Amino acid sequence: MNITSNFDGGNIEVISIDKPEDIKLKIRKDTNSHFFQWFYFRVVGASGYPCRYKILNANESAYPAWEEYQAVASYDNENWFRVPTTYENGQLIIKHQPKYNSVYYSYFAPFSYERHLRLIDNAQKSDLCVIQHVGETIENRNIDCLIIGTPDEDKKKIWIIARQHPGETMAEWFMQGVINRLIDTNDPVSQKLLDKAVFYLVPNMNVDGSIHGNLRTNSLGVNYNREWNNPSLEQSPEVFHIRNMMDKVGLDMCLDIHGDEELPYNFVSRNEGIPKYTERIKNLEQLFLDAWLSISPDFQDKTGYPKAEPGKANMSVCAKHIAQRFDCLSLTIEMPFKDNKNMPNPIHGWSPERSVNLGKSVLSAILLVADELR
Ligand code: ZN
Repeated sequence: MNITSNFDGGNIEVISIDKPEDIKLKIRKDTNSHFFQWFYFRVVGASGYPCRYKILNANESAYPAWEEYQAVASYDNENWFRVPTTYENGQLIIKHQPKYNSVYYSYFAPFSYERHLRLIDNAQKSDLCVIQHVGETIENRNIDCLIIGTPDEDKKKIWIIARQHPGETMAEWFMQGVINRLIDTNDPVSQKLLDKAVFYLVPNMNVDGSIHGNLRTNSLGVNYNREWNNPSLEQSPEVFHIRNMMDKVGLDMCLDIHGDEELPYNFVSRNEGIPKYTERIKNLEQLFLDAWLSISPDFQDKTGYPKAEPGKANMSVCAKHIAQRFDCLSLTIEMPFKDNKNMPNPIHGWSPERSVNLGKSVLSAILLVADELR
């Protein structure tokens, strides 16, 4: 039996493989950081064995809320299903008897760099979409922004960015839904939206961290969602370049897409704690939430983060910084690693397909509020 994570997005440290029932593993820390939670590894030679994988350091992870969490497995890196997982004495224990000799396990269905490039390259074949090269990452990879729709002074400028936290792969699945629906010329919602708005989309804000198999940081250990007050070319080039581009082209609405390790729901985080939280922003937030609630049963607004006290928001967080900077509707969207407890799916849990569909649905909600954006 062999276990490796030496591939795009891989993360595991093998402690011992003495017998299939007692495989000891640890999650590796994000590069130059203390955070860890994301895992993704391949096992070969275990077909037919009742394997027990023990992740020994689960209790030291960034969010040790592993109750109700089930790991995902796949034989082909395409179709992912949940496998029995328990959290006992600080260890995450995955039990699975593989049907084939090669099997992958992961924290959530990965979204590889190759898939990322395919998503972008495919979108540019639409007449509606152009790729803009915005800059380079710390490790010299491209920072790509997709511009969908014909730029026009009178149109709303809507930004959607994802995967500042690279381990939150559901965020890029969500972007796949957004992008592919927007370029679908047979979709009346998209067509109507593009009459009113131009979309600026960054499907992966942290390509380096994604390839390293990090949960929260880039290759230098920098958490991009704490960089928006003062981004730099040296530490956070993605945030630096994208914020500059936002200043240049303008911004009427911004969504920042994430995954949440703890809560088994889809939800948004609002901006009640920012210094300039006006009635107008408050009303826009409510309008958008009501629109989305009416469209997707997968979305809810009952459970989420505790509200920030007025003036106490962390202004280095993207959505809050942007709401203040542009005096506009700007929200953090969170999807679960676990499942949507209101509509659970025991086989897949929250999944790539459901993330894609939620991404598609957000466009219908945006259409309902587009005329109200500044
Ligand atoms: Zn996040």
